[in-house]
Amino acid sequence: MHLNKTPYVKSMLLNQLRGITHTFSARYAENPFTAGGNFIPVYAVEQVHCASVCILDSETKKKLHSMPDWPKEAESYTLPGKHDGIITTLPETAIGIRTADCIPVLIAYPGGPVGAFHCGWRGLVRGILLRAAQLFAAYGSLSQCIAAIGPGICSNCFEVGEEVINEFLAKFPDETRQCIIRSNTRFFLDLKKFVINQLMTSGFTQNSIDILDFCTYCGHGNVSFFSYRKEKNITARQWSIIMVQ
Ligand SMILES: [Zn+2]
Repeated sequence: MHLNKTPYVKSMLLNQLRGITHTFSARYAENPFTAGGNFIPVYAVEQVHCASVCILDSETKKKLHSMPDWPKEAESYTLPGKHDGIITTLPETAIGIRTADCIPVLIAYPGGPVGAFHCGWRGLVRGILLRAAQLFAAYGSLSQCIAAIGPGICSNCFEVGEEVINEFLAKFPDETRQCIIRSNTRFFLDLKKFVINQLMTSGFTQNSIDILDFCTYCGHGNVSFFSYRKEKNITARQWSIIMVQ
């Protein structure tokens, strides 16, 4: 199958949000570190499949840049600590996460704050999305927020062991039940559906959730992305980036 080499995809709902720019880069992105057409460094986190979210405020940013070993010119800056999400209200400060099969979620209010979250199954079971919703709820009503679910592995491609299903069921029974697909002795998990369910139970509405229907593994949606499961020897990831203008 010949997949489209489009460099990035976008959420229509996030695009309509005033004062916000974003991009979900794809495999053939020449330079994912562009927001609004200009090169801009991206603030990132280490990503360890946990539920911790880093808040990037002006004080933190100033402190980082005054550190003697802080790189002056870099494509991305990894913030200290172990986190799987970032939130900022700062303008002209791009934040991003890297994925290849895991589900990237970008969240924004009109004019900010904005957030980027790495939602793999481990992080989801540990509550990364609940933490994201909790932090965003402190800035207003979640029904006014937009959450865009980016390219990630689809339910046909995400086979998991029964123990993974059981972990989800033990922690989030209601949000998990509709996300399990059983085929004889095999189990598949619909991670995107789980993300939608969890956003909805947290206070997001159907109108405030955008789903980009691309699978990084099977090519559903016809755009080429990096896939960790498919290409075990590769280390490349796509970036999901968002910024307050
Ligand atoms: Zn797929």
